[in-house]
Amino acid sequence: MRELFDRDFDVLVIGGGITGCGVARDAAMRGLSVALVERDDFASGTSGRSSRLIHGGIRYLEHGRFKLVHESIRERQILLTIAPHLVKPLAFTWPIYQGARIGRLKLSAGLALYQLMALGRSHLPSLLGVKKTLEREPSLQRNRLKGGAVYYDAATDDSRLTVATAVSASDNGAVVVNHVSATRILRASEKAIGAELKSQNTSQTGDVRARVVVNATGVWQNAGNAIDHGVGSRGSKGVHIAVPRERIGNHDAVTMISSVDGRVMFCLPAGRQAIIGTTDTWTDEAPEAVHASMADVDYLLRSANSYFPDARLAFEDVVSAWAGIRPLVATQSNNPTSASREHSIVADASGVISVTGGKLTTYRAMAAEVVDRVQQTLGQNIRRAPTDTLPLETESSDDEIRRIGQGDPQLTEPLVAGLVYTPAHLIHGVKRCMAKTLSDLLIRRLHLAFETHDHGKDVASLAAEVVAPLLGWDERAKRARISEYNADVERMFAIS
Ligand SMILES: Cc1cc2nc3c(=O)[nH]c(=O)nc-3n(C[C@H](O)[C@H](O)[C@H](O)COP(=O)(O)OP(=O)(O)OC[C@H]3O[C@@H](n4cnc5c(N)ncnc54)[C@H](O)[C@@H]3O)c2cc1C
Repeated sequence: MRELFDRDFDVLVIGGGITGCGVARDAAMRGLSVALVERDDFASGTSGRSSRLIHGGIRYLEHGRFKLVHESIRERQILLTIAPHLVKPLAFTWPIYQGARIGRLKLSAGLALYQLMALGRSHLPSLLGVKKTLEREPSLQRNRLKGGAVYYDAATDDSRLTVATAVSASDNGAVVVNHVSATRILRASEKAIGAELKSQNTSQTGDVRARVVVNATGVWQNAGNAIDHGVGSRGSKGVHIAVPRERIGNHDAVTMISSVDGRVMFCLPAGRQAIIGTTDTWTDEAPEAVHASMADVDYLLRSANSYFPDARLAFEDVVSAWAGIRPLVATQSNNPTSASREHSIVADASGVISVTGGKLTTYRAMAAEVVDRVQQTLGQNIRRAPTDTLPLETESSDDEIRRIGQGDPQLTEPLVAGLVYTPAHLIHGVKRCMAKTLSDLLIRRLHLAFETHDHGKDVASLAAEVVAPLLGWDERAKRARISEYNADVERMFAIS
């Protein structure tokens, strides 16, 4: 935090979700001096609660969002290239049932258009008969099955993508700090000149000065945040649940049309688990407290059971349930599902540039547009950085973790039987990925909290032992960090 007070920056970015981290990386790569502050942790907001898809968004074709789909498909291709360890191709089977809202004809037209927009940069989708559909996904409901289709998008780890972007911004010279809030924009002669900051851990306060301020606080603008966005936006809540994959038996991703309300949703493979989501309902809930309700979970279970009847999923099968809020550009629409996922960039009278809306998939393109505005404000010529070609990571995290574990078998012992996470992952999280709390580690650097019924509470003290020497925690600090962790997971994974 001290580094923030010693200098005048070209640009201050407020918010360390994918949008803010993308802006910081792009600006740093253009040679600007950059500071980024995040009130909690990178990806602790919406960016760590997505469906983890880097996708063209085939369902947006139904709502005529051709520009968004075109941009998303282009970005999918770029991310597959610049972040191959973090963004991987994923096959989707879309079964078609008799009387479905989207029948064979409509689906084949949609897939043809989707493929056309990809300009051959994706595996060809194909229509399938009943037999081939069941070969791909044998546990699907067979009654009234008329066939299906297979198409290709990509999957990511949303928090790791966000953290990797923050680390890359830092590697390119940006000062990137988590657990520090911007509490007020500083203005002189009605022009923004920086922000007042407060450390969440030490309560230390101070001012950071910058020639341009970018507000990337996502849905926090609706939450009484002192940092006012100036852009109209509305929050739509989306819930996911994780259930044991062996119960469902899905091989790849399955696109479903909810039997409850006809919405498009997914059953996604995630290691030993299947993730089912999402819901889409307007909400005024506070983003830091948002969590799944019983009704959300019931909706997801009913929708999944109608596609995978042998799974007989019940409430007790839910390993974890969590919610996020989509920052959607304000709309009069009563239906959040048809509201635009496009982004908006506006500057207020004092010059604060606010960006909202958009998607994880399109963050890189959004960031480039924002930094163009920053350079215009600074009176500079626009010089785009090669964010579309330079790898996001110089070395994959998996290779770095393997190196940390080399020669010490204790560091490669699983923290929880059957899961890949080891003490080496924790050390990597602290040393390389700026983790400062147990929640940073067990929720976002590792996904352990999503993958265990107790959300990692059982291993919290072991994790605290491993990282205490690196983070300077004494016995008292360890106890405090563990109880903070318990409170965090209670809040995030509660179902009520
Ligand atoms: C359920 C769901 C599923 C989704 N699935 C997908 C998907 O599969 N693919 C896809 O492309 N997109 C998806 N999205 C959309 C995508 O997740 C969001 O568009 C994106 O994550 C928004 O990122 P952001 O950085 O704008 O917001 P956030 O990630 O919320 O970041 C804003 C940050 O600002 C910080 N902040 C707030 N106030 C302050 C302050 N005063 N000082 C400092 N920091 C502050 C917050 O702590 C937060 O971390 C999904 C969204 C939801 C809700």
